[in-house]
Amino acid sequence: MRDTWREVPPTAGLPLQWRDFDPRRKRPPLEEALAEFLDVPSVQLECSGTAALVIALTTLKRHSIRRSVIMPAYTCPLVALAVLHCGLKPLLCDLEPGTFEFHAPALARLFGSDVLAVIATHLGGRFCDLVPVMSAARRCGAFVIEDVAQSLGASRRGVKAGTMGDIGVFSLAAGKGLTLYEGGALVTKDSALRDALQKTSAALAPDNASWEWRRSLQLIGYGLFYRPSMLRFAYGTPLRRALRKGRMIEAIGDDFASTIPLHRVGAFRRNVGARAAARLPAFLDALAMQAAMRRRILQTIPGITVIGDADYTRGTWPFFMVVMPTSAARDCALDQLWTAGVGVTRLFMHALPDYPYLQAHFGANDVPNARDFASRMLTISNSPWLLEKDFHRICSVIADAAAPSLRNSR
Ligand SMILES: *Cc1c(COP(=O)(O)O)cnc(C)c1O
Repeated sequence: MRDTWREVPPTAGLPLQWRDFDPRRKRPPLEEALAEFLDVPSVQLECSGTAALVIALTTLKRHSIRRSVIMPAYTCPLVALAVLHCGLKPLLCDLEPGTFEFHAPALARLFGSDVLAVIATHLGGRFCDLVPVMSAARRCGAFVIEDVAQSLGASRRGVKAGTMGDIGVFSLAAGKGLTLYEGGALVTKDSALRDALQKTSAALAPDNASWEWRRSLQLIGYGLFYRPSMLRFAYGTPLRRALRKGRMIEAIGDDFASTIPLHRVGAFRRNVGARAAARLPAFLDALAMQAAMRRRILQTIPGITVIGDADYTRGTWPFFMVVMPTSAARDCALDQLWTAGVGVTRLFMHALPDYPYLQAHFGANDVPNARDFASRMLTISNSPWLLEKDFHRICSVIADAAAPSLRNSR
């Protein structure tokens, strides 16, 4: 159905403006802006969400003899790579059927005396069910790390995601809302832990001019190309080429190198982020309004589920997570939409044990619900650049793809 030069990004990232690169425009530092936004005393900036996780885990590891880390079986593969990088043992928890939440009985089985931390993950703008995770972790003596890479700004009863657990980890990567092209942040309420995190960071993440130059040019590239008229050069064309060649993991961007860069973020990128951050709250509000309208339309399609907010929570809306009735229906919809330039994709390709580069670590893991979720889910961009007519075309393709499984189930 691709018929225009337009390319819609798969997630609604905050677009940069030329003014964001203007050194004469002074702003409070990015860390201050983020701390105010999250309502915490301070925020520690790192060079990626993964780096932030490595700093967090290294810090916890130094103060404990425990060596296992629980994480969802369906999440960003970088999370598993970060745990392995730290010499810790990832324990995969299966999901509640049809959602991205931890399966409560599976989680209870994993908690034990070797568990250093559990990584509770807020996916796709949603706020995950933290309360039972926190109480189980407390009983076990494990730390709770909140992975807020995809949900900066989500809240529960007014408390922001990332500020409830022991440590919150954020991502400022391209396509995750506010971006420095690559960047991350750490938050903790505990002042002793905050000092320890800063010490770890000072030791592990030195200044590195060559990485910083590279990231600065990439950020300028993002400023240039993150617009519907240009995005096909940076995103759409490489995606379609990878899909033509059957390289699915590459198409999704899940083919991560196993080395994790660790370095300071330079002043140039911090300042760009600080200027852009001023627009974040209004941008998130606009996305929420568009999402409310479009979700109502999606919810009229029989047989599909759009993952929404749990009680007392208010998420953000970078994209919609849509669970199709069967994997055949999902694949049928994606066949028509993935290469169409309208911002429909998969979130992560597989459950973690099914990535070739992680198989050695998770060979025999049985996580049926995570596999089922990976096979039935697709995402629809909530970018303001997704035109009304394209959104309606997406809805009709999805409705048609879901229809045969409805007939079969009658
Ligand atoms: C992207 C992502 C990360 C890693 O963040 P980077 O900034 O890309 O290193 C971690 N967790 C989740 C859920 C993510 O989506």
